[in-house]
Amino acid sequence: MALIVQKFGGTSVGTVERIEQVAEKVKKFRDGGDDIVVVVSAMSGETNRLIDLAKQISDQPVPRELDVMVSTGEQVTIALLAMALIKRGVPAVSYTGNQVRILTDSAHTKARILQIDAQRIQRDIKAGRVVVVAGFQGMDEKGNITTLGRGGSDTTGVALAAALKADECQIYTDVDGVYTTDPRVVAKAQRLDKITFEEMLEMASLGSKVLQIRAVEFAGKYSVPLRVLHSFQEGPGTLITLDEEESMEQPIISGIAFNRDEAKLTIRGVPDTPGVAFKILGPISAANVEVDMIVQNVAHDNTTDFTFTVHRNDYNNALQVLQSIANEMGAREVIGDTDIAKVSIVGVGMRSHAGVASRMFEALAKENINIQMISTSEIKVSVVIEEKYLELAVRALHTAFELDAPAAGNTAE
Ligand code: ASP
Ligand code: MG
Repeated sequence: MALIVQKFGGTSVGTVERIEQVAEKVKKFRDGGDDIVVVVSAMSGETNRLIDLAKQISDQPVPRELDVMVSTGEQVTIALLAMALIKRGVPAVSYTGNQVRILTDSAHTKARILQIDAQRIQRDIKAGRVVVVAGFQGMDEKGNITTLGRGGSDTTGVALAAALKADECQIYTDVDGVYTTDPRVVAKAQRLDKITFEEMLEMASLGSKVLQIRAVEFAGKYSVPLRVLHSFQEGPGTLITLDEEESMEQPIISGIAFNRDEAKLTIRGVPDTPGVAFKILGPISAANVEVDMIVQNVAHDNTTDFTFTVHRNDYNNALQVLQSIANEMGAREVIGDTDIAKVSIVGVGMRSHAGVASRMFEALAKENINIQMISTSEIKVSVVIEEKYLELAVRALHTAFELDAPAAGNTAE
């Protein structure tokens, strides 16, 4: 008998019919002898609808009041699911974050969980009840309702699993697992049976939207076995784990991530003196713009070029700041480019294999794709390329690293 935390996302509880289906699923697990704690999101679209309402009152709604309102989405779904379970003869009880006592800091709309009181839930489990908990919300020390940021129900699920020392945290969603890359771009993308927390974290921060990044961080920190599954299809899903060396056959690269969210800025002909990087990036960060990749060229003629990427939403802001820096420093010019994309290969196997980056560059060269910037970490190589080659690049890399699924005729299905 296991204790399982099951989290169902917005589309999985998007209608009353679906909530009934979720109840069936939970009942099945419970009939099999497991203890179940369920975490649910609001019905799909509901959180957006609520935020829209607030925006009709004010462009910048007071964060505390926004939290009071958006937290209602989850309060509806927990009650409906508990009703659906009880109707099926499954003893169940629903709790808001506040009732459990999910203690958070006071950073409204992006609060962090500080502590979870597991006692109430444990008592219910002992009494044979399924506990249904509202995702995405908590309460600060003063009793104010807080929310955890968009997609925050994942984090609630993982945090509860950690607090309850659950055997597994299952994230049910509208895909059947984590894929080697986005199947909409590469038809031959494959579901991964397993991926490490570190890899998943890279995939998530590089644009794969299956799980909230904070949930993955949390799961890694507390070693909560995490599994991504389809809500309404049978299948093993993808297990996200700590262990790396399960099999020698493990591929070097687990996935190809990409995003179109970045823009590139270059300041040319800046004096090559100590403090230049700080002079450029200091004001950028003071303007609250986050910088991702950075490249500074080797100087010649005592000047150098300096290039970095920012989120596209910050592009105009960053460009303005950079232009005034350029004037001050007497730099030659400022160039910007929003038609870029970042493509990354991710895999813990890189640690023990040489030549991974060059294999990546070879695959891109074969397609005549120019690399504008490169950055690496222990388990990732990222390149910036022209946006129009993004899909071609992802497909080429997917093939080069042998991630393509076998041809349709060869599969068992
Ligand atoms: N309902 C919240 C949102 O839409 C939280 C979640 O779904 O995880 O962001
Ligand atoms: Mg969600």
